[in-house]
Amino acid sequence: MRTPVIAGNWKMNVLVGDALSLVEELKELLAEVTGVEIVVCPPYTALYPVGQALAGSTIALGGQDCYPVENGAYTGEISPSMLKDAGCAWTIVGHSERRRYFDETDDFLNRKLKFALASDLKVMFCVGETLEEREAGEMDDVLRRQVREGLEGLREADFGRLLIAYEPVWAIGTGLTATPDQADEAHGFVRALVREQFGDTVSEGLRIQYGGSVKPENAVELMEKSNVDGALVGGASLKAESFASIVKAGVVAV
Ligand code: PEP
Repeated sequence: MRTPVIAGNWKMNVLVGDALSLVEELKELLAEVTGVEIVVCPPYTALYPVGQALAGSTIALGGQDCYPVENGAYTGEISPSMLKDAGCAWTIVGHSERRRYFDETDDFLNRKLKFALASDLKVMFCVGETLEEREAGEMDDVLRRQVREGLEGLREADFGRLLIAYEPVWAIGTGLTATPDQADEAHGFVRALVREQFGDTVSEGLRIQYGGSVKPENAVELMEKSNVDGALVGGASLKAESFASIVKAGVVAV
């Protein structure tokens, strides 16, 4: 059985004071929850204080991105060891907003992924097609390219610390959600690609989260699908009540 991971990506939202209030509410709402892994990914300025506030709780801390170099003259960037220093166990790599607004290529994301894993972080690696690509019938090719090039050169042992987030770009922040069947089918396809590249054991153990307008109302039916192993949540993770219900949906769906 694959333990679901429910992660909140707070993106460029929430100042430190609000981040701390949010996390205090989450700790209370989620104190008794078991059977799922819970992660929150605040903006960089809030990482350290949120990490301190989470100490001793079951909620883990994650970064939203990282740069594939240990340290040096990379103005504005953050390294995996800085994320770890702030208390992170996880980082997101390859979010569609990084691919789209910051022109991050598959090759560059592959470097980031390998560097983050080698630095002992756990990684949520995002893939997903745009609306134009889906409508042009290119979805399979896009996912194939993102998975093949993104995971190129990984070793079997790396997969203990890696999960994939399937996030159709047309569903992110738009209110549109893939239907549970669409999500299950895309996850099955991603799992099959991983099987071709790395074999049965890796592909069967790999957790694949769904992301794209997940909310309390649709979370159970998405996560009930056999290939859906949790959720990466943007907008709905900014409200403690809604994120907590999505986490609980993950428990129900196990
Ligand atoms: C995301 O940012 O990864 C995401 C899925 O956002 P939203 O839930 O707001 O669509």
